[in-house]
Formats: sequence, structure tokens, C-alpha cells
Amino acid sequence: MNIWQLFHKLRPFVRPYRLLVISTLLLTLIGALAAQVNAITLQYTVDSINALVEGHQGVAAGGRILTIISIVLLSKEIINTLVTFGQKFYGEKLRILVSQDLAQAIIERFLTYKLTFFSDDDNQAGKLQTRIDRGIGSLTRLVQIFFIDILPLFTTAAVALGLMYYANVWVGLVATLIVPLYFWITYKQAQKLAGWRRMFRSNMEKKSQGIIGIIQSITVIKSFNREAIEADKQLTLQKTLTANQMHTRQLGFVFDGLKSFVEQIGVVLIIILTAFLVLQGKMSIGMIMYHVLLFNNVSAPIRSLHRIYDEMNDALIYAESFFNIIEAENEVEPSGSLKPAPIRGKFELKNVDFHYPNGHRALKNINMEIRPNAITALVGLSGAGKSTLISLLDKFYAPQSGSICLDGVNLNDIDTQYLRENIGLVLQKNHIFSGSIAENIRYGNMNANQAEIEAAARQASIHEQITQLPQGYDSDALTLSGGQQQRIAIARMFLKNPPIIFLDEPTASLDAIAAEQIKNSLDAIKQNRTVIIISHSLGQIIDADYTYVMQNGEIVEHGQHENVYAHGGAYKQIFDAMAKSLNVDKIAKTFEQNTATP
Ligand code: ADP
Repeated sequence: MNIWQLFHKLRPFVRPYRLLVISTLLLTLIGALAAQVNAITLQYTVDSINALVEGHQGVAAGGRILTIISIVLLSKEIINTLVTFGQKFYGEKLRILVSQDLAQAIIERFLTYKLTFFSDDDNQAGKLQTRIDRGIGSLTRLVQIFFIDILPLFTTAAVALGLMYYANVWVGLVATLIVPLYFWITYKQAQKLAGWRRMFRSNMEKKSQGIIGIIQSITVIKSFNREAIEADKQLTLQKTLTANQMHTRQLGFVFDGLKSFVEQIGVVLIIILTAFLVLQGKMSIGMIMYHVLLFNNVSAPIRSLHRIYDEMNDALIYAESFFNIIEAENEVEPSGSLKPAPIRGKFELKNVDFHYPNGHRALKNINMEIRPNAITALVGLSGAGKSTLISLLDKFYAPQSGSICLDGVNLNDIDTQYLRENIGLVLQKNHIFSGSIAENIRYGNMNANQAEIEAAARQASIHEQITQLPQGYDSDALTLSGGQQQRIAIARMFLKNPPIIFLDEPTASLDAIAAEQIKNSLDAIKQNRTVIIISHSLGQIIDADYTYVMQNGEIVEHGQHENVYAHGGAYKQIFDAMAKSLNVDKIAKTFEQNTATP
């Protein structure tokens, strides 16, 4: 991406603040004119004082000149202060407003993306966050640089150059010749640094991801005493970063020296040329001062050109990945337009094949039918593809081949939001947001009132417990136990009241008591709906009307519990293993003995 494309992409974000931009431009023009006052005043001073000296006039005669100069310089300074304030303030205001819009735009955008986007290695939370933060930071810096640095400095330079040409074409030419040379050096510098900057960016992302990784796995790291190894891993990255920064700085200093040298040559040339013209009697002596100060105005922006260029390059690099995220058209979740009503909940899968973006083939030639208003259990060892299958039914992912139909309509043709309105998903770990219990339940239906929230909580068998909390429904939901949080999630589903429910190991992360406690809530939510349940709990599997058994992404057996069990295959193996792990024989004996002895 080049700078023009970048500006083009930024335009829609700046457009709403046109008035702000125009005000800044006006102030810039005033500032540029005011910046030349010093040069003019000094030339006038030198020439006037010189005339007085040559005329052998004393201090008294100089009083008038000094008064004029003081008034002019003071007024200019007042105007300049106001203009600079206005410019900086408006520039900053623009930066803040654009930053707010960019941040909001990217959030709104990636919320619409497919899950594949988030499961991509390049888009891990830490990496994505760094890229977005840096993108917004440097893009808005760019807006600010443009209005606070580039525009005022370059307008000032252009006016100063104009005045030099007006005074003498040769002087103007010398000043102009230095500019492209300077530009060229800056360009070379930026070119040499671009690769290093990209590398720096990717290493910074890795570093943030590394820190997040450590924090997330701190318990494991500590329990294995792997602190030193983790620190070592970070040290390697840190060293690469340091070497990278050193090299960048070193290159920067070499080029800075070169540019300073070129600028000084410019000053010397201007002095020599003007002195020559003064000696020829073509100019007054004050013009030496005048030209040196004007050249200073010309070279000031060029001096900061490299900083501007650097920041622009930063902006370009970060903007590239920022706009890559915001413009990832392929990542937007596809949606059909059909909203078949009422939804019965009959899923039919034909020859469904699916592999994850990393190439892992998770589902192979799946053919199945999920009956409406019945409970279907998906059974299989972990990694068999059960959760993947549910993700496909929820349109989180799309199969690469084969078809999935709901009530006879291909999922591709169904409006995605409508589909998800009709599906409730209860996972192993449910997502309790920071906020009150009431807010968390209301997530199921944003228009629900307190009475409806309470009714849902009652259905999920959690109302009593909530009312016993000191702050009741206003209590912080994150302080609840795992089992309670799970029931909050189920209450949320009652409020949403979808005809289809997917339960993905809803009790796996709970202890036996909690699992038992939420059994009622689960049984209640299963009523009169199409339910698919994935579970490693015998009680929940045995309750199902129909069972599909999965192995390595394939359906290997299916039927009613008794029939599949009788088949003596994978299901029997898994079921027996579950029963053995529960020690069913001894449990049964314990119950027998306790019921036999009154
Ligand atoms: P189950 O629910 O039966 O335990 P999953 O559907 O979660 O199994 O996973 C099926 C297979 O797909 C596993 O081998 C798993 O490692 C792989 N898998 C799951 N999610 C992803 C993902 N986002 N990217 C790549 N592979 C994945």
C-alpha cells in the first residue's frame, strides 16, 4: 500500500469532520504567513540599523525602529501562539474523533466474521489486539502528523521558498536544489528500514502473544517448575527485538548525519551567494539574514521529513494489516435470505465433508438425520468431531462438500441470524459476562423484563439461590460457582426459547453435586424441542431417543440406545468403559445393601 492509497482509505473516516479540517487549513495558512515575519523583520532591522550607522546617527534615532520591531514581533508571537494552539487543538480533536471511529469500525466489522477468521493462527487474540491497537494508533498519528506537522511545515516552506525566488531567482534555485537531495536521502533511509520495521512488528506481536500465553498458563508453568524455560523463550525473542532496534537506530543515525551535512551545505551556499550579490551591490546587507532565516523555514520541514517519513512508514505497515482486517471481505459470514417458519428442527446431512483452515479433516462423509422434537445424542471419544458437527449445524463453519438442510431448506439459503435465533447453545464452559446476573440472563432476550428474567431463572432452578444472595439479581455473575453459572446459561436459553438446543458437554466441568443439581434444569430445557446432546455422562446419553456414534470424523453406528449397544461395536465399548469408570457394579451393590437393610 502506498501513501495515496492509505489517504484514500482514510478519507471516509475524516470526511465527517470536514469543518474541523477546513478550520485547521485556514489556521495553517495564517501560521505559514506569520512564520515569515521574523525573516522580514530581521532584514528590515539590519538594513535600517546599518543605514543609521552609516549616517552616524545615534541611539535616539534608532528608538522608532526598535519600537516598530518590538510591536511587530510581539504581535506576530501573539498571533502565532493562538494559531499554533488552534492548530494543535483541532488536529488533536480530529485525531481523537478519527481514532474513535476507526476503533468502532473494526470492532463492528470483525464481529461479522466467520469463526475461521478467529481460529487462524495469525489472528490469535494477542496478535490481533496488537495489530488493531497499533493500526489505530499509527493511523490516527498519521492524521495528526498531516495536520500538525506536514501541512503547516510545508505551507511555511512553500511560502518561504516563494519569497526567496521573489528576492532572487538564483537564491531560490539553490534552496530548491537542496530539497530533492534531501528527499532522496530520506527515501533511501526509509527504504532500507522498511524490512526491519516489518520484522519488528511481527516480533512485537509475538511478544504480546507470549506474555498472554504465560499469564494464561501460569499454573501449569509453575507446577512443572518451567519458569526458567519460559523466561528463556522470551529472552530469545527479546534479543531479536533488541538486535533489530539497534540496527534500525544505527542506520537512522548514519542517515541523520548525512542529512545534517547536506542542510549545512545549503546554508553555506545561501550565505556565499547572498554575500556575493550584496558585494555586487544588488542587495542590501540585511538580505543575508533574510535568506538564511527563509532557508531555515524551507529546511525545517525537510529536517523533520525523516521523522514524518518514519511515522508514515509505520502507519503504512500497521495500516496495511489494519485494513487487511477491516477489508477481509472473504471473512464476512455468508447469509442466505430465507427465514422458514415455523422451524421444526429436522436436520439432514448428506455426504458432509469438513476440514479446518489448518487442513485437519474433522468430518468425513457424514450422513445423518436429526429428528425434530427428539433428543439425539452424539457419542464418541474426544476429538471424534462431535463439537465440529454442532458448529456446522450452527453455521459457524461451512462444509467443503455435501449439504446440510434444516426442515428441507439448505443452511446456505437460510438467514444466518435467523437460524441462530432459533438455536440455543449450551457449552461445557458457559460464557458469563462481567455484569449482574440479571444482565447475563437478559442476554437471551434483550427486551425481557425482570419478571420474565425471574421466570427463566425459576425454570432453570436457580431463582431460589439468586434471591438468597445479598444483592439478588444485581449480584456480580462472575462470583457464582460453576454449577450456578451453568444454570444462568440455561436460564438465558429459556429466555431465548429456541426450538433447537445443542448441549455440548453441559456438565463436563461440574462436580457430581452440581451436575445433579442442574439435571432438572437440563431436563426442563429439553422438553418439546429438537435437542442434540454431546455428553460423557451415562445418564444423559441413555435419555436420548436416538444415538449417533462418531469415530475419527465418521459416523460408525447409529440407532436407539438398546439397538446400538446390542450391535457390540464402538458404542458398547465406550458405554462399558463409562460404566466401568463409574464402578457401576459396586455402586449397584451399595444401593442394594442399603435398601436390603432397613
Ligand atoms: P470432539 O467434540 O468430538 O471432542 P472436535 O469436534 O472438537 O471433537 O474436534 C475434532 C477434531 O478437529 C480434533 O482432532 C480437533 O483437534 C480438531 N479441531 C477442532 N477445532 C479445530 C480448529 N479450530 N482448528 C483445527 N482443528 C480443530
